[in-house]
Amino acid sequence: MSEAVDTTVETGVTPGAEHAAFRDVLAKNHAARRKPPQHFVDMDADERIGAMKDLGLPKFRANQLANHYFGHLTTNSEDFTDIPADKRDELAQRFFPTLITPLLVQKADNGTTIKTLWELFDGSRIESVLMRYPTRTTLCISSQVGCGMGCPFCATGKLGLTRNMSTGEILEQVRAAAKAMRDGEVAGGPGRLSNIVFMGMGEPMANYKSVLSAVRQISALPPAGFGISARNITVSTVGVVPGIKKLTNEGIPLRLAVSLHAPTNTLRDELVPMNRRFNVDKVLDAAHDYFLASKRRVSIEYAMMRGINDQAEHARELAKRLNHYGDDWAHVNPIPLNPIEGSRWTASKKEDETQFLDILHAAGITATLRDTRGDDIDGACGQLAAKSLVESATAAATASAVKATVSAKH
Ligand code: SAH
Ligand code: SF4
Repeated sequence: MSEAVDTTVETGVTPGAEHAAFRDVLAKNHAARRKPPQHFVDMDADERIGAMKDLGLPKFRANQLANHYFGHLTTNSEDFTDIPADKRDELAQRFFPTLITPLLVQKADNGTTIKTLWELFDGSRIESVLMRYPTRTTLCISSQVGCGMGCPFCATGKLGLTRNMSTGEILEQVRAAAKAMRDGEVAGGPGRLSNIVFMGMGEPMANYKSVLSAVRQISALPPAGFGISARNITVSTVGVVPGIKKLTNEGIPLRLAVSLHAPTNTLRDELVPMNRRFNVDKVLDAAHDYFLASKRRVSIEYAMMRGINDQAEHARELAKRLNHYGDDWAHVNPIPLNPIEGSRWTASKKEDETQFLDILHAAGITATLRDTRGDDIDGACGQLAAKSLVESATAAATASAVKATVSAKH
């Protein structure tokens, strides 16, 4: 019980972080914070072999563990039947510490959308959302606890940045979902996790190293990774230009999504504080360079806000900006705003959404309205974590209040 008190208090909003948008660009790991326990996937090949040696085991055992983790999706020592029985527990403890624990699971769309609130080793909370479609299953994952970019319409932005997540913490979300799909735990029977989007909590470019290592291990074939093609992985950024440039040079055929939300600097300054650092022109230049290098169409994310950025003039200006670079290099993804509590922004009118799309189409730009999967469980934008934090805080963070909040939501 007392544990629940501590963990909830710990996950509080970083004081002042809402305004720390610029300080947190490309943040290094926040040194003062405790690091998550080191996991197998946080180590390179040499480190794995070294750790194996420390336990008095030969290096080929590292390959066996990789096969258990990525191939069989297990960290349970009982499954390690190819490893001497007296070493199994020790290996599991050293290489596969528990990094994420489910706190709350919410389902929508007849069980084909599943949102999980996870608790990390230090009581921090993050979320992931699984969305099963007829031909693909997509997992939306988090890369940071909170976010320091301060977009005022975003629930995660309201939390501020607590810390970066480790590669292990990022990949454990993927393993859990891949396992749930394989084991038939998602409505629709056994299947395969096919797509990953970094669109949960956090700004992936501000945790570049861990995110890239995660991307490599998501896409490598087993036993080096989960074998989800890089082409099916999307990294979404608020527009951290140095991060986009770095990613361009990696030469990985990822899909890049850029959260533009406004076609002019005046408007974007208001909606995306990071625009004062990397403005519309710089962001689109970098996005177009990514397209040229990767030959992969860039997604332009555009959260539609009623009367703010959803009018005909905005669609025309957006079309003009995109067409300036040529044809067929970008795909616009208008997203119906998922309004956060107490926010002055609300979702667009249907007719404005339609008009916006029509104008883009007429200008030769492909655009599809993002479907509103899991709307009733607050979509994929940090809302659940934010809500439970707010509720916990206002309930004076007593253990019983926390327990009541969690169970009331089941
Ligand atoms: N930090 C990254 C990725 C996580 S956010 C980014 O900003 O791109 C993923 C997407 O959700 C972004 O396009 C973001 O702008 C959008 N988003 C955030 N809050 C939202 C809300 N309340 N309604 C709809 N989309 C939102
Ligand atoms: Fe961070 Fe993305 Fe939310 Fe902006 S929209 S605050 S960058 S998570």
